[in-house]
Amino acid sequence: MSQHNSQISSARRVRELELMVRVSRTLTSTLDLERLLKLITRTAAELVNSLDASIILQDPRTGELIFLAAAGPKSEELKNIRVPVEGSIAGTVFKTQKPLIVQDTNTDPRHYDVVDREIQFDTESILAVPMMYQNRAIGVLEAVNKLDHGRFSQHDIHILSTLAAQAAVAVENARLVTQLQELNARLAELDRLKSDFISIASHELRTPLGLILGYASFLHEETEGATSEQLDKVLQAATQLKELIEDMVNLSHLEAGQAELDLKELNLQEVIQESIATQQQFAATKSLEIRQSLPHTTVRVRADREKISIVLENLLNNAIKFTPPGGRIQVAVRPQTGMVAVSVTDTGIGIPTQELDRIFDRFYQVESHLTRHEGGMGLGLCIARGMIELHGGRIWAESVEGRGSRFTFTLPVLWKDAASKEA
Ligand code: ADP
Repeated sequence: MSQHNSQISSARRVRELELMVRVSRTLTSTLDLERLLKLITRTAAELVNSLDASIILQDPRTGELIFLAAAGPKSEELKNIRVPVEGSIAGTVFKTQKPLIVQDTNTDPRHYDVVDREIQFDTESILAVPMMYQNRAIGVLEAVNKLDHGRFSQHDIHILSTLAAQAAVAVENARLVTQLQELNARLAELDRLKSDFISIASHELRTPLGLILGYASFLHEETEGATSEQLDKVLQAATQLKELIEDMVNLSHLEAGQAELDLKELNLQEVIQESIATQQQFAATKSLEIRQSLPHTTVRVRADREKISIVLENLLNNAIKFTPPGGRIQVAVRPQTGMVAVSVTDTGIGIPTQELDRIFDRFYQVESHLTRHEGGMGLGLCIARGMIELHGGRIWAESVEGRGSRFTFTLPVLWKDAASKEA
C-alpha cells in the first residue's frame, strides 16, 4: 500500500514539475495579460487538484481587490467583481502576506459569501496565497474546492506559492509593458499634434506674410528718405520671419514624407559658390572670411538644387553665427569613391562631444533658447539631415569645443557623366 502511495505521489510530482516547466516557459514569453491570467488559474487548479482557481489583483489606482480571471465555468461572471480588503479571505491573505487554508468556508466568518450568491456558486474550501512582487503583495491566487472532498495540504501551499511567485513577476511585466505601450501611443499622439500644429501654423502664416512683404517692397520702391529706411527695417524683419516659416514648412514636409526631390544634374561647385554669395554679407558683418577648397574638375551630382542650397546655406549660416569675429570658415569638396563629401569648417565656439548627435534633432540647441545670443529655432540641422538623407547621403558633425566645428555631408556622384564629359 505504501509502495502504491509513493508511486502515485512520484507520478504526481513528475506531473507537477511538467506543469511548472510548461507554465514558466509561457509566463516568461507572453506579455498578453488576459492569456497569462487564464493560464495561471488553469495551472493552479490542476496543480492542487481543485475545482477552480482565481486571481484577484489589487487595482493600483483604487487599492481595491478585483477578480480578474478564473479557470472554472463561472469565470466570465466572476470577472471584475470586487472583494473588500476587510472581511474576506483574499483580503486577509493580501494584508498579512501569508497563505491561508480554509477547509470549510461555512464556519469561517472571513468568507465573503456575497460573491457566491452573485454568481451562484458554492465555495466549500479555499487555499489562498499572496502574489508577491518586490516584497509587496500585488494580489492573491486562490484555489477553490479541493476535488474528491479532500483537504488542502502544506504541499499544496508550497506548490501554489511557487506558482504565485512566478505569476506575480509575469503579471507585473505584462502590466509594465502595457503601460509603456500606452505611454508610447500617447507620445506618438502628442508628436502628431505638434507636427500638425507646425504644419497648420506655418501654412496659415505664409499668406499674410506674403502680403506684408509684397506691399512693403512696393512702398519701399515708391518712397525715399527716412520712410524708406523704416520700410527697409520692416522688410528685413519680414524676410527673417519668412525664413523661419520656410523652415517650419520644410520640416513639416519632411516629417510627413511629402518632401519631393526635383532631381537635376548639377555642377556642385556652382551651387556652393551661389550659396556662399548669399551668406557673404552676413559674414562681412562679423569680419569673417569664407575660403573655398574646390577641385579643379567639375563635380556633377544628380540632386535637387533648391534643397542642396538650403543645406549649404544652413551650414554656412551656423558657421557664421557661432564663430567670433576675425575667424575663418572653409568650404571644401572632396570626391570619394562613388561619392562626394562637402564640408563646412569653422574656427568657432565648437560643440561639446555629447551634443554632436543631438544637434540634428528638431528644435535642439546646445545653449538654452533663453540664454543664447543667436537667433534660430533649432531646425536648420534637422532639415539639412532630412534633405541629405532624401538624396541617399549622410551628414555628421565633428568638433573640438573652443576650437571649431566641421559639418560634412556626402552625396552620390555621377561618375559616368563626369568621366564622359571630361574625356
Ligand atoms: P539653430 O541654428 O537655428 O539654433 P540648427 O539646427 O541649425 O538650429 O543648429 C542646432 C544647434 O547646433 C545650434 O543651436 C547650435 O547650438 C549648434 N550648432 C550648429 N552649428 C554649429 C556650429 N557651426 N558651431 C557651433 N555650434 C553649432
